[in-house]
Amino acid sequence: MTRTVYVNGTYLPEHEATVSIFDRGFLMADGVYEVTSVLDGKLIDFDGHIKRLHRSLSELDMAAPCSDDELIAMHRELVRLNNIDQGMIYLQVTRGNPGDRSFVFPSADLPPTIVAFTQDIPNLADAPAAKTGFRVISIPDLRWDRRDIKTVQLLYPSMGKMAAKKAGVDDSWFVEDGAVTEGTSNNAYIVKGNRIITRALSTDILHGITRVAVLRFAAEAQFEVEERPFTIEEAQGADEAFSTAASIFVMPVVEIDGKPVGTGKPGPVAQRLRELYLDEMRKAAI
Ligand code: PLP
Repeated sequence: MTRTVYVNGTYLPEHEATVSIFDRGFLMADGVYEVTSVLDGKLIDFDGHIKRLHRSLSELDMAAPCSDDELIAMHRELVRLNNIDQGMIYLQVTRGNPGDRSFVFPSADLPPTIVAFTQDIPNLADAPAAKTGFRVISIPDLRWDRRDIKTVQLLYPSMGKMAAKKAGVDDSWFVEDGAVTEGTSNNAYIVKGNRIITRALSTDILHGITRVAVLRFAAEAQFEVEERPFTIEEAQGADEAFSTAASIFVMPVVEIDGKPVGTGKPGPVAQRLRELYLDEMRKAAI
């Protein structure tokens, strides 16, 4: 089945979808994005993703491309047209096509470019990696200082993923000033006893939508939540470690820089949080 994608108000087969070579997203990485997961054909935590989209847009002085109702309707239509039971929807909004290349922002009334497409991942909730856990390496965090804005400048995270691949592991965790910031495309946590430790929100990290929900479920399940930086050495000596993102939910991390974390197997806290997250978010999906 040919994938149907969305470009600027039109649904069309993926091979017919085009964006201008002058698009600011293409020339300047001048755009923001969101990734929403789909379970049972429904959108997970869509409200959180829309709120963060608005925040990213406003931090870059970009107007909302359309109403929230239109965004929801478009996401649902893509799920329907592509018959998605489990998977993701990628949404990207760029500053548009000014018809030439210039560092100066185009006029604010230039229409933005909006594209969206689905990714069909039938075993998203049941991902085999969640049973074995991620092995990660640490690398320096060389990204820009506004990681709280979800921009499409993903070259360094992509290089981080390639460094992991080269090392034969699953992901890289970024380290800055001696402390872990986050993973290439996920937030990072450690577990010590009944306490879940993760870096506090700031411009150093992306404010994960999954992070908000997981910390809420953790607190409701009587875990203590401590928001502070931690080092790679502390993580290696922790009982457990895990990452969260819309694409992986809660993913146990079982090895860091070649050293096993805890038993070297997915731990009970990460597994419980994953179950809680999936159960609760499935119930609240729209
Ligand atoms: N941190 C980074 C750098 C990310 O790219 C992502 C997701 O893409 C996350 C954290 C997790 O965010 P979310 O839970 O909203 O998917």
